[in-house]
Amino acid sequence: MAYAIVVCYRCGRALVAMINCKTRLCPYCGTRITLDKARKVAFASSASDASEKLRIFNLKRKN
Ligand SMILES: [Zn+2]
Repeated sequence: MAYAIVVCYRCGRALVAMINCKTRLCPYCGTRITLDKARKVAFASSASDASEKLRIFNLKRKN
């Protein structure tokens, strides 16, 4: 299973999405994100790897 860290184009927050899905509901603002159109900032091969990359991305974003 492959994952991508995608950025919501409405609220700008990053979330984890499975790469074989076409859309993902943003947990923060409720927007249905079309993964083809969303900016992908990282890829991961496992759920734990994905959540770690998401955490790092959010940390960088605050600084
Ligand atoms: Zn959002």
